[in-house]
Amino acid sequence: MPQTQCVAIVTGAARGIGAATARRQAADGRAVAVVDLKEGDAQATVDRITADGGTAVAIGADVSDAEQVSAAVSQAAERLGPPQVLVNNAGVIRDNMLYKMTEDDWDTVMNVHLRGSFLMSRAAQEHMTSQGWGRIVSLSSTSALGNRGQANYSTAKAGLQGLTKTLAIELGKFGVTANAVAPGFIETDMTKATAERVGMDFEDFKAAAAAQIPVRRPGRPEDIAATVSFLASEDAGFVSGQVIYVAGGPRD
Ligand code: NAP
Repeated sequence: MPQTQCVAIVTGAARGIGAATARRQAADGRAVAVVDLKEGDAQATVDRITADGGTAVAIGADVSDAEQVSAAVSQAAERLGPPQVLVNNAGVIRDNMLYKMTEDDWDTVMNVHLRGSFLMSRAAQEHMTSQGWGRIVSLSSTSALGNRGQANYSTAKAGLQGLTKTLAIELGKFGVTANAVAPGFIETDMTKATAERVGMDFEDFKAAAAAQIPVRRPGRPEDIAATVSFLASEDAGFVSGQVIYVAGGPRD
C-alpha cells in the first residue's frame, strides 16, 4: 500500500450502508470522499467523520452522469490525494411487478447501479493502476438471485456481479482487486420504503424479515461496512472477483 494516507471514495454515502461504510473507512485510517447526489446531504456524514477525528470531504455528484463522475473523482484526487479504494454503493429502488413496471423504472435503476458503477470504476481505476494498488467493492444484493417486484433491481444487482468478475480479471495485474458484497435485509431508508410499498409497519416488516433469517435479526449498515473494510484491506489482496453474501445466512 502507498505510504501516504490512503484515500477512499464511497458513493451514496449520505445515509444508510454508504454512510456506515464511509465512517468505517475513516476509522480504518483512510481519508474519505463522501459522494452523494447532494453535497449538503453528504456533509452530514463528513461532519460525523471529522467529529470522530477523521478526514473527509463532501462531493455532490450523480453517479449515472459521466461528466459529474469525472469531476467528482478528479475533485477527490485533488482534495485528498489519488484514490486507492472505491465503494460503489449508490442505489435506488423502483419496485413494481413486471406488468406494472415502467420503462423509466427500469432505466433509472440500470443507470444508477450499472452505469454508475461502470463510470465510477472507469474513472477511479486510472488512479489505482498508476499506483499499482487498488480495491473496488460494489454493492450487489441477495435480490440478484431473483426477487418478486424487483425485475429491474435484481437484473442490475446480478449485472454488478458480472462487472465485478470482469474488473477482477482486467485489473488484477495492476494490483487492483474487485469484489462485491451482497447484503440481505439491512435496516435502512431503502427497506423502510419497501415496507411502505407493501403497506406494512416497519417494525412488523423487520420482525417478519428477522423470522426468515437464520441468525434471527435484520442486518445493520455496520455489518456491511465491516465486510467492505476487509475487502478493502491489504490482507484481502488475494481475494478478487468474489461475491460475499452478508445476509445472516447462506442465500446463494
Ligand atoms: P439508501 O438508504 O436508500 O441510500 C442510498 C444513497 O444513495 C442515498 O443517499 C441516495 O441519495 C444515494 N443515491 C441515489 N442515487 C444516486 C445517484 N444517482 N448518485 C449518487 N448517489 C445516489 O440505501 P441503502 O439501503 O443504504 O443501500 C445502499 C446500497 O446497498 C444500494 O446499492 C442498495 O441497493 C444496496 N443494498 C441494500 C440493501 C438493504 O437491505 N438496505 C440490501 C441489499 C443491497 P438520495 O437520498 O438523495 O436519493
